[in-house]
Amino acid sequence: MTWAEPGPPASYSWEATDEGVATRFGLTVGQIVRFDLNTSPAPPALLGEMLAAGTFETSLSEYPPGDYRRLVEAAAERYGVGTDEVVPGAGADEILDMAAKAFLRAGERAVVPVPTYAMYRVVTEQRGGVVVPVPRLGPDEGFALDLPAMREAARDAALVWLCNPNNPTGAEEPEGAIEALLDTIKADAAAEGRDPAAVVVDEAYAEFTGRSLIGIRSSYPNLVVVRTASKAYALAGLRVGFAIAAPASLARVALYRPPGSIGTISETVVTRALREPAAMLANVARVAAERPRLLAAFETAGWRPYPSVACFVLVDLGSAARASFVAGQLLRRGIVPRTFSAGHPAERCLRLTVRAPQENERLIEAIAQIAPEAARVTAHLDPDPATTRLASEAAQPVPKEPA
Ligand code: PMP
Repeated sequence: MTWAEPGPPASYSWEATDEGVATRFGLTVGQIVRFDLNTSPAPPALLGEMLAAGTFETSLSEYPPGDYRRLVEAAAERYGVGTDEVVPGAGADEILDMAAKAFLRAGERAVVPVPTYAMYRVVTEQRGGVVVPVPRLGPDEGFALDLPAMREAARDAALVWLCNPNNPTGAEEPEGAIEALLDTIKADAAAEGRDPAAVVVDEAYAEFTGRSLIGIRSSYPNLVVVRTASKAYALAGLRVGFAIAAPASLARVALYRPPGSIGTISETVVTRALREPAAMLANVARVAAERPRLLAAFETAGWRPYPSVACFVLVDLGSAARASFVAGQLLRRGIVPRTFSAGHPAERCLRLTVRAPQENERLIEAIAQIAPEAARVTAHLDPDPATTRLASEAAQPVPKEPA
């Protein structure tokens, strides 16, 4: 295994905005549908009610409560943990940033199973940490972790980043796999007389499976679980996420919580959303009902969708050229897919969010139109260089690997 010297962090830029995509493709903002962000079609009804009422936990002329006590209490109850086991942040992304600060010092190693969510690399490199990429097993093994390779890499690492269910593959680890890795990390550290690596498990999509590692936190003091209000709770714009861990690890993360990064409106709304999960459960049910239709449409098109337990599907188009062609064709219709740049392990793929029934219908119709021409695209001969150029231009602003 080789490591790069610590250097400047991997750069990233924000996703193209709706306005940006519309301008580039000569469309109106109203024609744009985001299949690239793994978000939900609409926020829960309670958001509108609360905004109309205009009353929040404290006056908006004041700062939010410094301890976010009500939000923390609601999260502790929802996740079945103590209030000393929850730290809130401005989205899971801020939690990842705090975890990197808590567990990594410059020059230390962080293990990243690839492909996965791009921010693990970014926050590691921002700390001057060194990313140790460990390839996942292939699609026929469900993109599972390569457990022996992970164990080996974790031996001299300070931090291990895991994402379960994993973005962008949409797969979850086999039952017991992460526990087995945690056990070997613990045993190796004990045998070698050192502290085990911290293991951060990003469960941004856990509500879609109903499974979580939160229940084993007391057995693994090095385990930190990350959750968010952005995905199943359909409140990505409010920017609220959580770190959940046994008190000792949690206290380390809490040291890096910035003051007041969650606004009072976000705090008040997410507190209620956590206490009234009916809309979240309905959103999970929508995804479960709609996902098979998308999988079927991809198969009919002759493409290879990978099984997904999450609110998005990774589809293998067979070649990077075909993925790029299809992305361009979708974008011209206002449908924004997640693309992967050349050299990424998923460069032959697009990732598409499971959206509302009518929106999915639009995608399915577009696929039916595009598929015959896409079938003629080969890696060597692109019949329409213009669309490839449009797709790759559109791909440029999105290397953050959003959502
Ligand atoms: N983790 C994963 C795996 C994600 O896909 C996302 C969505 N971009 C995040 C974290 C960040 O989510 P949040 O909106 O809570 O910052």
